[in-house]
Amino acid sequence: MIKRVLLVLLLALLVLAVMVAGNAYRTPSRQLQVPAIQKLAVDEKAVAERLAGAIPIRTVSSFDNAQQNGEEFRKLHAYLAQRFPRLHATLKKEVVGDNALFFTWTGSDPAAKPIALMAHQDVVPIAPGTEKAWEADPFSGQIKDGFVWGRGTWDNKGNLLAQMEAIEMLVAEGFQPRQTVYLVAGDDEEVSGLRGAKPIAELLKSRGVKLDWVLDEGLLVTEGVLAGLDKPAALIGTAEKGYGTFFLSLDTAPGHSSMPPPSTAIGSMSAALAKLEANPMPASISGVAADMFGAVAPEMRGINRILLSNLWLFGPLVRAQLEKGASTNAMLRTTTALTIVRAGNKDNVLPGRAEAAVNFRILPGDSLASVEAHIRKTIDNDAIAIKAYPGNAEPTPVASSSSPSYRTLQMTVQQAFPDAIVVPGLYIAASDSRHFVDVADNVFRFSPVRARSEDLPRFHGTNERISIANYVEMIRFYHQLLRNSAQPTS
Ligand SMILES: [Zn+2]
Repeated sequence: MIKRVLLVLLLALLVLAVMVAGNAYRTPSRQLQVPAIQKLAVDEKAVAERLAGAIPIRTVSSFDNAQQNGEEFRKLHAYLAQRFPRLHATLKKEVVGDNALFFTWTGSDPAAKPIALMAHQDVVPIAPGTEKAWEADPFSGQIKDGFVWGRGTWDNKGNLLAQMEAIEMLVAEGFQPRQTVYLVAGDDEEVSGLRGAKPIAELLKSRGVKLDWVLDEGLLVTEGVLAGLDKPAALIGTAEKGYGTFFLSLDTAPGHSSMPPPSTAIGSMSAALAKLEANPMPASISGVAADMFGAVAPEMRGINRILLSNLWLFGPLVRAQLEKGASTNAMLRTTTALTIVRAGNKDNVLPGRAEAAVNFRILPGDSLASVEAHIRKTIDNDAIAIKAYPGNAEPTPVASSSSPSYRTLQMTVQQAFPDAIVVPGLYIAASDSRHFVDVADNVFRFSPVRARSEDLPRFHGTNERISIANYVEMIRFYHQLLRNSAQPTS
């Protein structure tokens, strides 16, 4: 009898092992079979010098002061007009708001929905005290060791000028796009996009334009970031998380600290905050994360491939592992971050008010309303008032990774980066493209920039740079994207 039970168990295990291995090694790759392209000839020295020349123009933006560095932005406009004469002769240029740039390149097919390439002109400042840590002056635009150095080389003058280089070449070739192409370059992306990208999106809406797709800065061609994946992964951001800050406040009777009540404003607020931190919103491998792992798994080797190909069985194990890392945890759930706490100003007085701010980054699927309900339920204290920050934003819709526009984008990435695989992903930061979700069928967030883990601190940080070889790839990418988009969709 026992022997028979053991035999059945063994057989069940064997079947399970076969299923697991089958899933891991028979799930087809989601990469496309793309025709190789002839490498576009690019004058490396000339394009690197043009990018370098834009770096000393200090287009640092300010949230409060729209006029800050207005002179610098206009200097950049003049520089671009001088360096990209064909583009400026062929495309219609409009300046929106103070200094946002909006170009229109009319397509040959008036019935086709237009497309938009986005970038931004503004840059973040240099953190005080870090100037000396730069290997090249951040506003010199120095070229050395095969890199263009300085603030904006990566974020985001690199994207902007690479797009312009591609268009300049296409105009010279006599190319006309099929779909009308818009070029959107905001002047305040780093401080909200409310003065640049947002009015441009509104302008399109007022003109009755609905876009086929938008491509803005976003996820990168990452190298060596995912364990078990040997190839670089080009991640296409198909959605952007929402932003939700909630202010909590609690008013109680102030009093003397010699006769404290059992519960004080500080104690109650602290308890509420501790509960929020200990009880985050649930994590799951679904939506964009599931889409991403589904595309990555067939390209992996070893144990990671087996685990990710069998989420039906190993899902809880994988999720527990991903929750441990801050960046992977952020892909799986709406995150909770306690950011401000304020109460009291004298050591022997019980404060009458305690205040706090909690910042949530909201996963598509959750909403500002569901976050607020979560706070209310978790803190379980009606005496605490909850107020939403006016600048809060819902998560964006998720762009389809099976749409024709995604396929065009994927094909282009595979052609421009033949060593990489293409994978949809969740963008956990914010970009100007969020202002375009109402006027576009699909919004994608991808920068054709190669980055290893150790490069990530350069973004908004010290020693920002772009390699000339990569910059040439970026130009080829945008050039090919416009060419591929001109083909009739299949
Ligand atoms: Zn940026």
